[in-house]
Amino acid sequence: MNLKNYLKRQIQQQGPISVAEFMQLALMHPEYGYYQKQQPFGKQGDFITAPEISQLFGEMVAVWVAAMWQQMGCPKDWQLVELGPGRGVLMQDILRATKHIEGFHACLSIVMVEQSSALQKVQKDRLIPIHNKIEWHETIDRLLPKPTLIVANEFFDALPIYQYVKANGAVHERVIGLENDALCFTLGAKGVNTQAVIEIAAHESDGKVIEASPASVHIVEQLAAHTTVHGGAALLIDYGYEMPACGDTLQAVKAHQYHPILEDVGEADITAHVNFTALAEAAKQGGSKEQKIMTQEEFLKQMGIELRARLLQSKATQEQKKVIEESLTRLVSPEEMGTLFKVLMII
Ligand code: SAH
Repeated sequence: MNLKNYLKRQIQQQGPISVAEFMQLALMHPEYGYYQKQQPFGKQGDFITAPEISQLFGEMVAVWVAAMWQQMGCPKDWQLVELGPGRGVLMQDILRATKHIEGFHACLSIVMVEQSSALQKVQKDRLIPIHNKIEWHETIDRLLPKPTLIVANEFFDALPIYQYVKANGAVHERVIGLENDALCFTLGAKGVNTQAVIEIAAHESDGKVIEASPASVHIVEQLAAHTTVHGGAALLIDYGYEMPACGDTLQAVKAHQYHPILEDVGEADITAHVNFTALAEAAKQGGSKEQKIMTQEEFLKQMGIELRARLLQSKATQEQKKVIEESLTRLVSPEEMGTLFKVLMII
């Protein structure tokens, strides 16, 4: 049995499934899910994320975390939460870069929110030797009532989205069914219960795909509610868009190439672009006072990435200098990750 056959059988028995259910199963099915069994990261894997490109990225996130911790009045007892930490490289870099800040580490508890048991193991191997108070949770439901800083890189793009499409003037859900024994996208039932989708659909023409991620909205509302009550802030980084934008952003990536979404289910990474306007709105609903959206380029430059790159280069070999320059360009250049990737600060 593989995931594709499992999905086919389920659809045969129970009818078409939502895009959200498809994503959830493709990524997190306990046995066949992509994140449960692969080592997706790095050159040999399917994609490379910013913390895996260069330590510069984690160091700039560390600058933000340290500044926010100071703004909170340097609390002794506080927690740092990372959502979807992959191989744990970002957290490792944050801990290294903040090592010399007095009081920062003493009573810090870390919470890693990770649903994949395979990746939890990788994170534990990397982080347990360097910090003694780390817990792993599968959801954000049990955060402790204390000042909390939250970071997430490429987490929200992995959360399930629903898709809707307008046909003959009516909005239908876009679902996954079977045709000649093959998985295919098809029109589902009419109707939609998300207000934001209804509003966008009113101005769109037939055939346009509209997306919504209630799971993401719910998590951001919860995070904002937590930091509003107990103190703290969140830094969410991902590729995505600000409204108004709509269209089909569901994508599969395998071995650094785009891949047909319904092929090799469970063997390719499946993501959707993040709707930053919707996340900022969710943070506001959760009680946060300030939501700032900027590009990754703006964020990294504000945190001082260029200066840091020069400093590293000043002590590097010719070969290393070149690698630092290339990583810097990759992270900030608008032709690469600089503009597509956005940052949402929730304060
Ligand atoms: N932040 C890392 C990894 C990004 S990949 C980096 O930048 O390299 C997405 C991560 O989110 C993986 O660790 C994956 O297992 C995790 N993840 C995906 N969906 C999740 C969910 N619903 N709950 C918790 N973790 C999830």
